[in-house]
Amino acid sequence: MTLQSDILDSPTPKCVLGVAAHADDLEYMAGGSMAKWAAEGADVYVLILTAGENGTDDAAVDPEQLRAIRQQEQKAAADILGIKKVFFADYGDGSLEPTMDVKRSIARVIRTVRPDTIITWDPTMKYCAPRRFVNHPDHIASGEAALAAVFPLCRDPLALPELLRDEKLEPCDVGTVLLFNFENPNCFVDITNTLSTKVKARDAHASQKQFASDAPTDITTVAKDFGQLAGTKYAEAFVRIDID
Ligand SMILES: [Zn+2]
Repeated sequence: MTLQSDILDSPTPKCVLGVAAHADDLEYMAGGSMAKWAAEGADVYVLILTAGENGTDDAAVDPEQLRAIRQQEQKAAADILGIKKVFFADYGDGSLEPTMDVKRSIARVIRTVRPDTIITWDPTMKYCAPRRFVNHPDHIASGEAALAAVFPLCRDPLALPELLRDEKLEPCDVGTVLLFNFENPNCFVDITNTLSTKVKARDAHASQKQFASDAPTDITTVAKDFGQLAGTKYAEAFVRIDID
């Protein structure tokens, strides 16, 4: 399969769940794809694992206030993208670990919305030297926990028996996982028509300092670079795993 055919042939998912550590992570990774799929009729949900209450350079900020602001910003961004619902799990910002409790929280949402496609951070991306980027440990933890929630915790009927017993949440096969990583993608989504929506949704996170426009991690620069690889103006890129 060529890279170009990945764009042309990938059908729109029916139900998508993005799992990330912080408000604004998913806009950065996949905002253009989520907006495109939502406009095409997909049900798109996001799960934000931490409250993002430490996401500031200003030591005078009250974390409780920031928690509320970031939830509001996430809801506004979700409205811009056409996301159906935002789930918040409220783990501590900066101390997320892929514990069984975190995995259970993700599995609960997966078994509730029953997505065919999951988007999350690639937990193997600890850093990216060409983009001068060190990944946040919460991002790595969220990707690792999400993968464990997909398999085996949502697939296997004997895993997390309390979800079935107490909450009537049946096991669920997730067919496709899309991992965000700056390098070695095997799947592209053409976001030429939704880049401006992605940028608008990113800008809804007004409390957050963004990468400088000349940084190699700038949202438009990355979309342009992926677009060049994919043969389109702007693209998002993923490591795509279709699970048997
Ligand atoms: Zn983040």
